[in-house]
Amino acid sequence: MVGKIIKGVAGFYYIHRQGYGVYECKAKGAFRNQKMKPLVGDNVEFDIIDEENKKGNVTKILPRMNELIRPAVSNVDQALVIFAITQPAPNLNLLDRFLIMMTKQEVDAIVCFNKMDIASEHELYLLGETYKKCGYQVIFTSVLQKSGIGQIEQLLKGKTTVLAGPSGVGKSSIINEVLPGANMETGSISEKIKRGKHTTRHSELFHGGDSTYIMDTPGFSSLFVNNFDKDELKNYFLEFAEYEEQCRFQGCVHINEPDCAVKEALQSGKISTIRYENYTLLYNELKNQRRY
Ligand code: GDP
Ligand code: ZN
Repeated sequence: MVGKIIKGVAGFYYIHRQGYGVYECKAKGAFRNQKMKPLVGDNVEFDIIDEENKKGNVTKILPRMNELIRPAVSNVDQALVIFAITQPAPNLNLLDRFLIMMTKQEVDAIVCFNKMDIASEHELYLLGETYKKCGYQVIFTSVLQKSGIGQIEQLLKGKTTVLAGPSGVGKSSIINEVLPGANMETGSISEKIKRGKHTTRHSELFHGGDSTYIMDTPGFSSLFVNNFDKDELKNYFLEFAEYEEQCRFQGCVHINEPDCAVKEALQSGKISTIRYENYTLLYNELKNQRRY
């Protein structure tokens, strides 16, 4: 049989087999000797020992398409990051960090801005323009008015998606609309914080009946950009690309150099101030990072 590891707890692997449900499996034989450490997201071969009680043995990990370090999951097709346009106001620095992390791990990232129903035209326009310019797909949604939800559904269908977003933005509300079986808990921020302190969360893939999988990333707020060279950072700000050829210096990092075309584009409003500010902030953070 072939299935996908959706959770690993205390020596057991929970394997989802399309059309049949989830099997609780132990590692057996060659699988235990494989050097590869099994990851959530792995497609595996397994033997069924007890169909009625859904128990089995995992025997082999199938080749991985990719492997993310953060969150630890394999075979990811894309990442969906959800923020509210307002209430709570989006932390765009956090958004940019996430986009960089995903791009660095070579995963396509899509941005969803929720709570369209309580946003102003101006807010919508600003966010839409800013992030489309950076080369990302942007989807606006409202769970209340059920708009944009179909687009999210289409996007997720048949894929494995890493999902991220801070609390209170409507992440669970959206997922419950598109994947009712996932049963993500909704609730007020304070309730979640209280609960969060006393529970450890394992990484887990939620699954639709078909091959739709979602991995929620807890601890979103503590994402860091590290392990990379500060001079490489500019490559992750795709909207700089069309200007930087005109910078006076080759290898210009667009911070203090004279005749910098990126800074000129910033002055004339072609590059978003907030993106540029996030760029300099992250650049300085990387610059001051201790090297070991
Ligand atoms: P999560 O913490 O990101 O999973 O957010 P929840 O799904 O628990 O939603 C947080 C709060 O925002 C709840 O009170 C929801 O009813 C509300 N909410 C979710 N989506 C929308 C939306 O599209 N518009 C508005 N106005 N409120 C929403
Ligand atoms: Zn420059």
